[in-house]
Amino acid sequence: MEKVTSLAKRRGFVFQSSEIYGGQNGAWDYGPLGVELKNRIAAAWWKEMTQLHDDIVGLDAAILMHPRTWEASGHVENFTDPLVDCKKCKTRFRADQIPAENLTAKKCPDCGGELTDTRKFNLMFETHIGPAEDSASLIYLRPETAQGIYVNYKNIIQSNRMKIPFGIAQIGKAFRNEIVTKNFIFRTCEFEQMEMQFFVKPGTDEEWFSEWKKRRWAYYEKMGVKMDHLRWHQHGPDELAHYAKDAYDIEYLFPMGWRELEGVHNRSNYDLGRHAEYSGKDLQYIDQENNAERYIPFIIETSAGLTRSLLMVLCDAYDEEQVASDKNSGSSEGTAKGTNGSSGTAGSADDWRTVLRFHPSLAPVTVAVMPLMKKDGLAELAQDIRRELKEDFATDYDQSGAIGRRYRRQDEAGTPFCVTIDYESKDNGTVTLRFRDSMEQVRVNRAELTERLRQEIKNYKRIK
Ligand code: ATP
Repeated sequence: MEKVTSLAKRRGFVFQSSEIYGGQNGAWDYGPLGVELKNRIAAAWWKEMTQLHDDIVGLDAAILMHPRTWEASGHVENFTDPLVDCKKCKTRFRADQIPAENLTAKKCPDCGGELTDTRKFNLMFETHIGPAEDSASLIYLRPETAQGIYVNYKNIIQSNRMKIPFGIAQIGKAFRNEIVTKNFIFRTCEFEQMEMQFFVKPGTDEEWFSEWKKRRWAYYEKMGVKMDHLRWHQHGPDELAHYAKDAYDIEYLFPMGWRELEGVHNRSNYDLGRHAEYSGKDLQYIDQENNAERYIPFIIETSAGLTRSLLMVLCDAYDEEQVASDKNSGSSEGTAKGTNGSSGTAGSADDWRTVLRFHPSLAPVTVAVMPLMKKDGLAELAQDIRRELKEDFATDYDQSGAIGRRYRRQDEAGTPFCVTIDYESKDNGTVTLRFRDSMEQVRVNRAELTERLRQEIKNYKRIK
């Protein structure tokens, strides 16, 4: 994890929040490459969930919701973690995350000091709305995006004439006062979720539940994630949330072990039933095609962390490899290095590369354009080609240093394609297209470049 963390910081994916003040625990800032990656992961999920499904629509609900929402949802009462403190070293632990024998003996797992009794700690952040800080002004930062969907379910049926089964998708911030935040951006107090709630007729819920499990698994396959790093974990009776009829997590093998990435839950009719009860509104669905049959729909939820997915994508893409010296010297990558005075001999630092093997549709930069030399009009030609590519792709331009080093810099940022402009480009209008994963290079006509890149993205298959 240290390698991923340090690369993320060095290359401007993720910075510690408020670093100049010593940092803010549980909060992170996404730098130039990070925000691009995050936006692309969100866009890929959004496309998958809305564009590719006629029966799912989108929503962007407010973070601040009526406080009754959280009473109805059960969060005020149940959204707690068991907490213990060490009286000696003052470290705070989640009681369910320390060895049982320490808990029984009330012994700190770090320093052996005495632990306090376990107490319940609500994870919702409270604040006040309006000028008076009294209980009437109490409001919460939403701890999940799902409730914004439930309270809008009737609005969406009415405004968009949705018929069950249908879904509502939402991406947005959520806040949890997590007791332990570690492992970089894995568990943070401020994070983003990508949630889709699918409303179904009672009795069809189990079928839809297994359908959504299949679809979510297939999604990760399509995104080129290492499938042997994913597994299902079914919640046992002691793990099931108060609302859940059945629940599975998709777990990913992070550097610190298997951890939850996404939850697929059968939430029964709990949520809409509770909101109907607390709001006094009739939230039954009226099935006009079935003798106006009325029922409270069951909900199948797919709930993934966006920021946690970003960590997964970074870990999944991270690779270090020794670059075969024959490839290095035999290709024009090696030749180009020679041109710029680098020796490129076996065993040099250049024989190793760190590479982020992002799927091209997720990579923050899709194509980097570089002139072999700055002089003789090559830089101008490269800039012109970049201008053309900009319309269709996220581009970068780099003209400083040996070409081999420039390729390494792009490898580290996960840029799948580099386009190099050399003297031949001036003569015959061809450029070198270099592939991140294989490091292979081909000559392509400038006029065919955009279409070629489109095809390469579409047909991309991860080779390692
Ligand atoms: P955990 O058991 O890890 O606390 P959870 O079961 O409470 O998670 P859910 O409430 O099901 O998580 O949230 C759905 C998804 O939101 C999770 O699968 C995870 O990807 C993401 N998520 C939840 N809490 C956090 C957090 N504190 N930081 C980052 N992502 C989170």
